[in-house]
Amino acid sequence: MQLIVLPGDGIGPEITEATVAVLEAAAQAFQLRLDLQHDVVGLESHRRHGTTVQPALLDRVRAADGLILGPTSTLEYRPGDPGQVGPSKFFRKGLDLFANIRPARTYPGMPARLGQFDLVVVRENTEGFYADRNMEQGNAEILVTPDVVVSMRRITRHCCLRIARAAFELAQRRRKKVTAVHKANVLSVGDGMFLDCCREVARDFPEVTLDEVIVDAMMAHVVRNPARFDVIVTTNMFGDILSDLTAEMSGSLGLGGSLNAGADSAMAQAAHGSAPDIAGQGIANPVSLILSTALLLSWHGRRKGEPRFAEAGAAIEEAVAAAIGAGESTRDLGGGLGTRDAGAAVAARLKRG
Ligand code: NAD
Repeated sequence: MQLIVLPGDGIGPEITEATVAVLEAAAQAFQLRLDLQHDVVGLESHRRHGTTVQPALLDRVRAADGLILGPTSTLEYRPGDPGQVGPSKFFRKGLDLFANIRPARTYPGMPARLGQFDLVVVRENTEGFYADRNMEQGNAEILVTPDVVVSMRRITRHCCLRIARAAFELAQRRRKKVTAVHKANVLSVGDGMFLDCCREVARDFPEVTLDEVIVDAMMAHVVRNPARFDVIVTTNMFGDILSDLTAEMSGSLGLGGSLNAGADSAMAQAAHGSAPDIAGQGIANPVSLILSTALLLSWHGRRKGEPRFAEAGAAIEEAVAAAIGAGESTRDLGGGLGTRDAGAAVAARLKRG
């Protein structure tokens, strides 16, 4: 399996190093042939190459079996500077990685303040309110006068149907329940179409139930009773916000694993950002990127019909749960380990088998 590895900004290099240690342990335990190709993205890439993303990376990732992308400090990038492109948008749009899969669960051995839960947010990744990926050319945020901005949201039937299908296919492998989160009471045309698409796809999955919740009320429902939810499907921005909440509910944003998947490519990327407030201190939780990489291995195994990769992905998830249960975790979870040691604790469990 050939993977491109791009550590990114802030805590990116720290959590990527810990993730690679876990990946190498999994490769050894499951006899996976791994070819890791390291390169740079973000501010380091800008320093070296004059651009935050080298355009040639798109073809390199297309030709590889996947990408591990660390978080990047996009808020620091200068808007309008062609050399300061957001790497997330670049790969999600360029590789059509339409499904952003963000699981969140509680772990034995950790206080479950809101009760036990195990859910997945399936977020549309290529349109919606994200003005940077919404147009064929340019950006969908328009400065009408110095004091007036119009930001356009794009919703298409094609993207709604395919994200709904991704959610139902996932629910079919889980507890067979999909919740569509929307704002069709206000965005009646766009979210109305999104809901119609969810209902249409539901007809192909008679064993899976569909319920519908308005996004603002969802924040109360998911905190009140997260066990009610299995797979949650929603549009881009709602999913981005909701999945940070569910990751934090599971114990920490640092547990937020995330896979960006398309028909032919996939990218492992933590749900969170570059955490500049803790960067360089060796205290960031690497579990987010470790779990993202486990999702990437499982995706690759399913796609290639090679069960060893899916088994390795599942084993990483189990090793993470066991390490957290044993208190071998970073300080955001109440543990005392640094980033490197938290990764090593997971890797050690894989080596022991
Ligand atoms: P953030 O997600 O980086 O951090 C929010 C809070 O969570 C901070 O307190 C941080 O310390 C904590 N946190 C995040 N990841 C953690 C981890 N692995 N372990 C322990 N604690 C963790 O959000 P922010 O501070 O608003 O954004 C920082 C930068 O990241 C900005 O430049 C933003 O644009 C960028 N960003 C990038 C991505 C991405 O690359 N996919 C996503 C979101 C934000």
